[in-house]
Amino acid sequence: MPPVAPLVPRGNHGGRTRRRDDAVRRSRRDATGPVRRRRDYRTDGRLTTAGWRAALSDGRLLGQECADCGHVTAAPKAACARYGSRALETTELPEEGAVYSATRVEVAPEGFDAPYHVGVVTVGDGRVMARLENDAAVGETVAFRGSASTPEGPAPRFG
Ligand SMILES: [Zn+2]
Repeated sequence: MPPVAPLVPRGNHGGRTRRRDDAVRRSRRDATGPVRRRRDYRTDGRLTTAGWRAALSDGRLLGQECADCGHVTAAPKAACARYGSRALETTELPEEGAVYSATRVEVAPEGFDAPYHVGVVTVGDGRVMARLENDAAVGETVAFRGSASTPEGPAPRFG
């Protein structure tokens, strides 16, 4: 794969500062009306797979945003996939997305009931593997509908 030119030069944090991010977070919180109880799904300040799954079980879809370059991932990572920064902040992902890919599973692994639909859904800047409630077409807009219980743990459900 050829190297991809960075959107912002290394060392330049794109004008983003912690103070600005805190202000954005405050204004988002103020704009949401009734305060939703905030659980901390992080361990040692980091979003882990266990925390991500716990949030999903509570009906929240979390991702991580790189404080250095703004790259968003829809699943917990140890470092930013773009430049390797470890300054990742937990963020709530949009609850509406577009189907990026989809497939119908006819022959299921042990413990799963076939047929079912899975796909990759683009949510904001991130992409998440999800259960699809129906035969969604690529490009179709779908909404986050909580978690689906699977033998391997909760999975995001879109439909
Ligand atoms: Zn980054």
